Amino acid sequence: MATKTKTASTAKKAASKKKTVSTSSVKSKTKSADLQLPAPSKVEAWGMNHYSLSPVLFPKTQEEFQEIFSYANRHKLKLAFRGGGCSYGDAATNTKGVVVDISKFNRILEFDSKKGILKAESGVTIKQLWEFGVQKGFWPPVVSGTMFPTLGGALSMNIHGKNNFAVGPIGDHILEFTFLTAEGKILTCTRKKNQDLFYGAISGFGMLGAFLTVTIQLKHIYAGKMRVWPVVSRNLQDMFDYFEREYKNSDYLVGWVDAFASGSSLGRGQIHKANHLEKGEDPDFPANTALEKQNLPSTFLGIVPKAWMWMFMLPFSNKLGMRLVNFAKYISGFLTDNKPYLQGHAEYAFLLDYVPNWKYMYKPGAMIQYQSFLPKENAVEGFSEILRICQKRGIVTWLAVFKKHKPDPFLLTHALDGYSMAMDFPMTSGNKKRLWELAGELDEIVLKYGGKFYFAKDSTLRPEIVQRAFSKKNLETFHALKKKYDPKGILETDLYRRIMGIW
Ligand SMILES: Cc1cc2nc3c(=O)[nH]c(=O)nc-3n(C[C@H](O)[C@H](O)[C@H](O)COP(=O)(O)OP(=O)(O)OC[C@H]3O[C@@H](n4cnc5c(N)ncnc54)[C@H](O)[C@@H]3O)c2cc1C
Repeated sequence: MATKTKTASTAKKAASKKKTVSTSSVKSKTKSADLQLPAPSKVEAWGMNHYSLSPVLFPKTQEEFQEIFSYANRHKLKLAFRGGGCSYGDAATNTKGVVVDISKFNRILEFDSKKGILKAESGVTIKQLWEFGVQKGFWPPVVSGTMFPTLGGALSMNIHGKNNFAVGPIGDHILEFTFLTAEGKILTCTRKKNQDLFYGAISGFGMLGAFLTVTIQLKHIYAGKMRVWPVVSRNLQDMFDYFEREYKNSDYLVGWVDAFASGSSLGRGQIHKANHLEKGEDPDFPANTALEKQNLPSTFLGIVPKAWMWMFMLPFSNKLGMRLVNFAKYISGFLTDNKPYLQGHAEYAFLLDYVPNWKYMYKPGAMIQYQSFLPKENAVEGFSEILRICQKRGIVTWLAVFKKHKPDPFLLTHALDGYSMAMDFPMTSGNKKRLWELAGELDEIVLKYGGKFYFAKDSTLRPEIVQRAFSKKNLETFHALKKKYDPKGILETDLYRRIMGIW
């Protein structure tokens, strides 16, 4: 029988929640007038390339969000939300104000086990979602390459998965959300009700108000594993042709690109295509959805704790080392070429989480990601030009990922009918200037080919590039919504100030 239940832990946790705004170091009193801000602490971008020193508040209830908003309106305080802090750049830092960390507002509230409809607070992470759903035969419809983003962060950026070409971004699977506008009103938003906010807040990078609860449609699965095909591609054209040939028969497609290869091998790499199994195809279902079978192993080869693994990558964290790693990965791809295997959902989806803190291999420097999106017709030519320019400038991405996308109806969405390439670059005090110049050069190539950018991954975009990349009409609508729902302008992040030119 279908159950639309309040989840088991909800009532207990709710009872234990106190009506105080919790701060990182100082407890505030219940009245917002008395809200005391804690001492600033370091709030860092995921790529470690930027930070702010900001007081951090941790609201646990809707009332606490409202108190913070009311306080900010009265005291002309700038607020920035932060979910899992998984945006690569300055999307969730606030040099000029307070950070509102939503990670403690994280209860799953209701679940309809027949329809797979789940309602949760916006601080619930993708990890919580899949761990809750998988044993009941449901998987989140869209996940990022890491499981630590929250629903709030995912909706704000309208994240995409390796299945973007097939199912669209996360926004396409949201049935309803409740939203606290900067003025303190709670509105219910659906495709029909408060439509402007539904399409604007999803993709609105936290600038219109706070997602409170989110109702999402999960995907039914009939197996604990998926069938995965690893396929070598000899250059970018080869990879593109495979995607175009296979996408109609694929649930997920992702390409890894060896950005060091040149000439006729430019853009060579390996594709991983994955398909869900049909009902009855997995004899071990549902036993193999048990969390201990789905969760990523805590050791590598059964011996080395995964938490240490990034240290083994240190000897390779230089240009020569990365050239070797990329070469070795490409060559080893031939051993498994076109030999399908079964792989657990989490293993396939969250490959990057295999090595916790892998970003530390960039220390003592940091990293940025540059992800651009090009229309299908220009993808091979444009991304080839991008790879060539990087090589020419002597700044080659250590990790490049290729994905296919489709357009969606959200206001400031990054997706289009085409492809994206996400490129990780090391950032040091020595190369920062050259890296930013390179990014500027790449921006022009992206614009020349009619492309777009993604704020969740960005660290370098300038206002004039944003104005040229996004439609004038959509940017005007966004600014009108900002005026309507945040008239006093209390919501600002470092990203917002940078890309809107109001620093
Ligand atoms: C290793 C790695 C892999 C990734 N892979 C992908 C991928 O495959 N696809 C993809 O699309 N992205 C990917 N990302 C990016 C990531 O999914 C996005 O940056 C996402 O927005 C992070 O969510 P978060 O909860 O960490 O939010 P944060 O990074 O903390 O914040 C993101 C934005 O959301 C806003 N926000 C947070 N909570 C709320 C709220 N309750 N109400 C309103 N606004 C809010 C913040 O103000 C900010 O603007 C990846 C990131 C990493 C580190």
